[in-house]
Amino acid sequence: MRDPLQLALQDLKARVFANVVLAPRTHVRIGGPAEWLVEPLTESAVQQLVRVCRELGRPLRVLGGGSNLLIDDAGVRGVVMELGALNRVVRDGDRLTAGAGTSLPTLLRGARESGLAGLEILTGIPAQVGGAVAMNAGTRDGETFDLLASLTVVEPTGELRVLGRPDFAPRYRDGGLAGRICVHATFDLQPDDPKRIYQRFRDSLERRNATQPVTERSVGCVFRNPGEDSAGRLIERAGCKLMRVGGIQVSGRHANYFVNDGTGTCAEFLKLVELVRDRVRREFGVELELEVVRWTAG
Ligand SMILES: Cc1cc2nc3c(=O)[nH]c(=O)nc-3n(C[C@H](O)[C@H](O)[C@H](O)COP(=O)(O)OP(=O)(O)OC[C@H]3O[C@@H](n4cnc5c(N)ncnc54)[C@H](O)[C@@H]3O)c2cc1C
Repeated sequence: MRDPLQLALQDLKARVFANVVLAPRTHVRIGGPAEWLVEPLTESAVQQLVRVCRELGRPLRVLGGGSNLLIDDAGVRGVVMELGALNRVVRDGDRLTAGAGTSLPTLLRGARESGLAGLEILTGIPAQVGGAVAMNAGTRDGETFDLLASLTVVEPTGELRVLGRPDFAPRYRDGGLAGRICVHATFDLQPDDPKRIYQRFRDSLERRNATQPVTERSVGCVFRNPGEDSAGRLIERAGCKLMRVGGIQVSGRHANYFVNDGTGTCAEFLKLVELVRDRVRREFGVELELEVVRWTAG
């Protein structure tokens, strides 16, 4: 008998694929197959997909740029939704509205070229707009929610809703979406000379390139910074730099980055997480918390 989920997916305005290995869709190149990978072509297809999964009791996850995800080697059951087709950017005065699947670097370039400043605080973050919102991605210059005027989300019930600033509940590296799916976001920017915007962008890119292993496969920062302290500094001072498990190693450039030499697995990554946590706990009595989002099989 055909799976009712498979039948329902046929009716969606979406591209649907079965049994797709997720590793190539993540920055760290780790992760087994998704039972179903669905790429909705419209926001209403996102709503429909949310309703179908809810009615059938099947797990639904959203994959953004895959830059902050650690996915099990065994993969995940149910549906992984990819929003790359929702990538339209519209300007209205000093505001830009971008689909959740828009790549952040592309949005930054567009804003810069059209003389809109602000987004350069997010320079070098390899996210999609939806993922940057979900994680409240940021740098020492500011975070995503500093720039947001409104958000359009799909509720867990499938309803479309617009959230304004009073509805926002962002925290450090957490946009507080609480199970909602961001389908587009509106950013409030300021007019400025493209040359000046470009200079700020170049400066932060140079700073990043000098201190982070930006060209290697990673998930960005593995652990949250504990309070005012820096997780990277604690890991380095606990002597963990260059510690390795299989294909995964603590970066020599920035100790809160673990890099994959191309052969690493999720199991090895997690083993290294535990070794580093243990050392930091023993040295400083600090319990490091994961910043990277884990997708476990099931
Ligand atoms: C080299 C490198 C540098 C990095 N530098 C930084 C940095 O400076 N600052 C920083 O904050 N982070 C940084 N990161 C981490 C990462 O880029 C951010 O966390 C980013 O916000 C993740 O976005 P994404 O689109 O890749 O999301 P994913 O990694 O695909 O997903 C992350 C989470 O967001 C959820 N999500 C994705 N899209 C949506 C959506 N549309 N609606 C609801 N939920 C969604 C996913 O389900 C998942 O829970 C870096 C990562 C790398 C690899």
